[in-house]
Parts: sequence; C-alpha cells; structure tokens
Amino acid sequence: MRHIQRRIALLALPALVGSILVATGPAGADPTGPSATTSRSQPGDRESVRLVQIRLTGADMLDKVAAAGFDLEHGLRRVPTGIEGEAVVTAEQVTELTAMGVEVLADDAGFAWSDQADGGIGVGAAGARAVQPSNHQATVRIARADWFTTKGQGFLYVEARTTEGQQADPIVGMQLENDSGKGTPFGFARTMSRFVDSGQYMFHRNLFKLDTRPTRIQVTSSTGGVATGVVSNWLENAPPPLTANPSYKSDFVDGYKHPQQLYSRAKEIARQYPDIAEIVYLPNQTNGYQRKAQAQVGGTGQAAVVVTSAAWGHEGGNDITVEFADRPDANLPLAVEVTGKAVRVLLATDAAGAPASTATEVADALRTRSAGLIDRAHPYRTNEGTGIVAPTAGPVALTDFLDQKRVGAPEGEVPRGPATIPVLRIGKHRDGKKPGVLIQAQDHAREWVPATTSLESAERLVHNYRSDRETKKIVENTDIFFILSNNPDGANYSFYNFASQRKNMTNHCPDASADPAQRNSWGVDLNRNYRVGSGHDGYAGGSTNCVSGTYQGPEELSEPESKNIIWLVEKYSNIKFMMSVHSNGGQLFWQPGAYIADGRITTPRPPLGDEAFYWQSAARILSQVKAHRETVVTPENVGGSSDVLYSSAGNVREELYYTYGIYAFGWEVGGSVYNPGTGDWQGGSFQPEWTGNPELVSGHAETMEYANGIMEMFRVAADWGRDKKDPTSRLIPGDGKYRGPVDVRFETSEPATIYYTTDGSRPTLESPRYAATEFREPGQVFHVTETTTFRWFSVDSAGNIEKNYDPTKKDKRNNYRTATITIAKK
Ligand SMILES: [Zn+2]
Repeated sequence: MRHIQRRIALLALPALVGSILVATGPAGADPTGPSATTSRSQPGDRESVRLVQIRLTGADMLDKVAAAGFDLEHGLRRVPTGIEGEAVVTAEQVTELTAMGVEVLADDAGFAWSDQADGGIGVGAAGARAVQPSNHQATVRIARADWFTTKGQGFLYVEARTTEGQQADPIVGMQLENDSGKGTPFGFARTMSRFVDSGQYMFHRNLFKLDTRPTRIQVTSSTGGVATGVVSNWLENAPPPLTANPSYKSDFVDGYKHPQQLYSRAKEIARQYPDIAEIVYLPNQTNGYQRKAQAQVGGTGQAAVVVTSAAWGHEGGNDITVEFADRPDANLPLAVEVTGKAVRVLLATDAAGAPASTATEVADALRTRSAGLIDRAHPYRTNEGTGIVAPTAGPVALTDFLDQKRVGAPEGEVPRGPATIPVLRIGKHRDGKKPGVLIQAQDHAREWVPATTSLESAERLVHNYRSDRETKKIVENTDIFFILSNNPDGANYSFYNFASQRKNMTNHCPDASADPAQRNSWGVDLNRNYRVGSGHDGYAGGSTNCVSGTYQGPEELSEPESKNIIWLVEKYSNIKFMMSVHSNGGQLFWQPGAYIADGRITTPRPPLGDEAFYWQSAARILSQVKAHRETVVTPENVGGSSDVLYSSAGNVREELYYTYGIYAFGWEVGGSVYNPGTGDWQGGSFQPEWTGNPELVSGHAETMEYANGIMEMFRVAADWGRDKKDPTSRLIPGDGKYRGPVDVRFETSEPATIYYTTDGSRPTLESPRYAATEFREPGQVFHVTETTTFRWFSVDSAGNIEKNYDPTKKDKRNNYRTATITIAKK
C-alpha cells in the first residue's frame, strides 16, 4: 500500500514540470546567443594558467563571464557584495575579466561575512524554528535564526525578509538585534545585507560571529516593520558518529586515486565480498581518453593552417606528417602527394615562381586529397585564410598531445580509448526491494576528493559489515550504487595532462575553437547535460559555447556519461536517493537548482514535506561531517542551489528529482573551514595536498569527514525504507469558536505534505498543497475571517498517509482530518 501511494504522490510532479517547460522554455532561447563561439584567448598548457580570487557583482555577471568561456565553477560563494570564487585563467584572461567588470581580489584569503557586533553574555536554550509574525500588516518575516559553533567560535546566522524588499527607491534596509540570553533586552544593532539575484530581491542575510548564544533576535526594517524570532541550533548536539565505536574501522584511502585505481579497487571489493557486493557495468562506453592528432602550421595569422587527423592519435594519427613544399618552377598548380602517412602539399606558384597558395586553398586540398588521413583542416580560428602559405622546413608531425604529461602526473601509461564505467553495488538484499542510494562522484574531472570520499564510504561498508551493528543495518536495509568516477576520460586528463580539467574530453567545437591551443577547454559539462530545467529550454547557467566551463553539449543527454545515469535509475527503480558529489565549497544542495533568468522562474519548488525532509536529512548528514573535526557547512550554503548560489541549467539533481522522484542532493565537499588563527573562513581547492594541514585544507581530512556524511545518508535511506508510521497533523488553533478573524496554520509530526480543501469537498492529491509563506520559510498562515471548515490529510516523505486515508478513491470512512473555525457574528 505504502509504495503505491508513494508513486501516486510523485506523479503530480513531472506533470507540473512538463507544463512549465513547455510554457516557458522556447528552444534555443539561450541568452548567450548562437554567436558565443568566438575567438578569444584560451588557457594553454598547465604552466600558463593559475587560480585567481575574483568577485562578481551577481548572477548576471556570472552568466556573462561563463558565456564568454571562462572557467568559474565551484568554490563560488554568495557574499553580501555579489559572488566570490576562483577562476582558472591565464594572465591575459585576468585582463579580459577585469575589462568585463570582474574584481580580482588581491589575496586568496577565505571569505568572511562581516562580524560587526558581539552578542554579550547569556545562557543557551534550545528553541523552535523562527516565529511567524502574527500581525498581517507586518512587513518583516524571519526565515531562519541559527546558532552554531565551530573550533571554539560561535556564529549566528539570520535570514529575514521584508515584503518591501523589491522596492528600489528608497531601498528598504534591515537591522538585526539579538538578546544576550533568556530575559535580556535586545541590543547590538547591526545592518543586514540585502541579497538580490537575477534582478529579484531574495532576502536579507548575515553570518555574525558571537561569543555567546542568544535566545531571541529582532529584525527591524527601515519602513518600521518588525519581527522577533527564537534562535535554533544548527548541527549542535549531534549524536555520536559511527566512528565513535572503538571497533569501527575507517581511514582506508591513502591518497588520490585515478580512475583505473578506483575501478580496479571496486572490482576487487566485489570479488572479496561477493555476498554483499557486485559490479554493474554501465552500458554506454565513454567517448574515450583519446584525441585526434593535430598540427598548427604557420603561426596564427592569415597564412596559418590547422590540421587534424581522421584517426585517433593512438590509432595512427600520431604517425602522420604534413609538409608544405616549395617548387622552383612558375605557374604550377596546387598538388598533394601522399606516401604512407606522409602528406606533402606542393604549393602552387605564381608567374615569378613564388608560392601562391592561400591557407584556405591548402586546407581544402588537405581535407579532400590526403587519402583520408586528414579530415579536418581550416584557417586559424576566425581567420579567412587569405594569407599565402609559406613552405615548411620539412615534415611537421601531428600529435594528440596526450603523451605530454603534466608535472607531478602519476607513473605509467593511461589506457587510450573508450572506457566502461563499473558501478560498485553494495547491499545484502540486492533484489530491488530495499531503497537504493546512488553515490555519483567526479562528474567534474578535477574534483579528486569526491572520488576518495566515495571510495572510503564503500570500504567502510564492507569492512564493518560483520563487526559493526550500525553498518550491518545499513547493508541489510539499503541497496547502494557507487559510481566512483563518472568522468574517467576527463579525470585521466586531469591526472596526467591538465590538472584543472573540469569537463569530459568530447570535442564538439567548430573550427574557430578547434585548434590545439584550445584543447584544455573542450568537453561537455556533464552536470549541464540533462533534460529538466536545461539550458536548451532557456534555463540559466548552461553555456552554448563549446569552450565554456559550463558547456551544456549540443543537445540534452548528448554524452554517454549522462545517458548512463538515466539507464541506471530506470533499470533500478528502487533508487530513491542520490548524492552527486562535487568539490569544493562546503555546500549541500537540492531543488530548485535552475531558473529562467528573465523573471527568475525556478523549476517547481518541492512540496513542503519534501523540503522539510531535505532539511532534516541535511542536518543529520552535516552533523556527522561536523563530528569529525568540527567542520560546519553553514545554513546559508544549504537548500535549493538556485536559492543560495546560482542557477545550473540541466543538472542531474533536477532530472532525478522531477522525472524519477529521487531525493537528489548535490554536495560540494571540502574547503570552507573556519580558521581560528585568522578568524576567517578558509577556502579550499580541487586537489588540496593529501596530508596538508589536517585542521584546515587536507584531502585526507576532507575525505574522512565527508565519508561520515555519506554513511549518514545511507542511514537516512535505511530509516526511510523502514518508515511505516503514518504522519499526524493538526490545525493551529483547531476546532472552535472565535470572536473575530483568526490566523491559522498546519503543523505536522514529521516532514509531511498536507493536501487540504476549504470548500467542503473531500481532499485529494489534486487539492491545494499547504505551502511555505515564501521559499526557505515555514508554512503559510491563513487569515480566517468567516466560518471555514478545513478538510485535509498529510503524506510523509516515505509515502505514508495520515490515518491510512486513501485519497485516490471514494472512501466511505472519509478518514481525512477536519476542523471548523467558527467566527462569531458581531
Ligand atoms: Zn563539480
């Protein structure tokens, strides 16, 4: 019964998404335009690029900069003055960024919110969520007031809204005060920061350092609105982690692993633990760690020719040479001689016997007369190729550049060609009846910590299964799928050739971007290649520029790596949880994660029950991360990713949640730890030193603490699968006679969505859903002015329905809830 209900509850969602996509997503309406692929400087070899700290004014500028092909993903954070982060750029690109209005920050110290006030003294007290203002004329609402401590330092995070926030002239300001413990007056007034995104006012928010926990806060707007709220705990008082058991085994991963190491260990685990583990091979091979062989002859001017082999480099392309030869006689036509793999272009001559072939003519001849060795040849970038080609000193060898290893690359050869991705499946009962959890790591090649974090989690499962009761419960009650690297081609390129590689290695670029100096910018951003809220449907944050860090691909699901994910969740429909593991930034995300920039129209917000379940799960997961070394992922970095960071069109989370009803998290592990030495938050990097500073930035420490969080996610899934308990709910205040208008709201015993009617009809899954006042806020408040009867039922995150009511058919018991608010006549 429960599973049937779950399916019904979820069916409403795809329908809703579908209609929005059709109504508002004109094909090809990408704001970056079709002409985005233009010539500009590119990052060349690793030696010439660097990471710089930058600040952008907001999402609009981020879109513009990403559309121009800059590589700005990850480590991005909202700050009061815009968005800060790192860019992987050349010196020349720094100049271009500056010209676009991007501020290049002088140092790379971690970002910090302002901390202007100290909270005085007082005692802590656990509190409920923020209090709703009871007066409907009130213009200020408090969404969150959270207290947490990390490494000996207390912090207060506040999010508050004014209903006049969009007003431009004058802009409405907000002030925050807090008490110093129970019964003490408000004080320590300071100004809050206004958060605007894509032209829309979002809310005001700040993280303040405080030495003592306040009990209540008060927020006042410059137009006289006021709200007070109770301070809640964020990740305080977490239960002990699994690692607290002295016999629990952990710390298995001893360094970064390239894909061959990850996959071979996955297969070994399946061999060593056949009763609880197996390998599932994904059906679509990758496009391969391979490149066509290339040469760029004659510089970068009008006489330059870019030559690309038909065969992959390792399949013969690397053996090809091209030569442009001069001849002594006058008035000779252009000719091509092919001897084995040697292609010799005999340049035409003019009446004086001088070379007379243009770059365009030579390129055409190479394409059509090289006996199939060369299938791509063209002038350099956007040149017209009108220059007269000069003879070469001799044959020029083509190369795929893959044997050019970066400094520090691991020993050994990388297998060339397409890869088959193994999925490590762990669970005692792999029969499709236990809730499935998909851990997908390293969609982005340079993110090495997500792979080690996932492998560490797998090791902990198999090594502790027999000896640790909690681990045994996980393995017996879940069905876990690990993709330890979902981008093996790109990951190999990151390990062996270009450390900052983000995308896969598929080159979809037109001639203007296909010369070898651009090779480090080719590829598709696998986390922009999906179908829901995609760039192809007009959502923001995916680029049509093939050299952009967020290139979305020529079409939705163009890449084998994203097709595989769809195959997996369709074949194993018991997968109900997913974590897309990225780095770095200290963020935990869910839906909505994308919006259409014009009007800031997001993908549909999850129902309140799902939203509450996400928050509850996030708190469990992040508490276990904190238990390792006090790393706190702060509440402003948790939630719908487009609400707290930016829009990422076509990401995997939107696809899996809206199409398949999977609770789909996105994680930015690593970085962002509080450094008591400097009093600032310390940013991280994609490949921090493995041992590094174990208290700050260290691949090892990040692997261990975030593996704690993944293990907790398994427990969340196991609990969800065993949840047979119906939710309960109530209307506050309930049934009764009132002397005038009453404000009422619903409350549920656990994360649950309420469907209700006020017109006397029986509630169904088509009835209105009880919603948040606004996003990231608690449930709405109804202002009841006339006698009204509410009829409702609630559904929890596992699909259990209150009182076993069946909303899908006429139920004689009418087992829904009901309450009448009677307003006395005057
Ligand atoms: Zn990533």
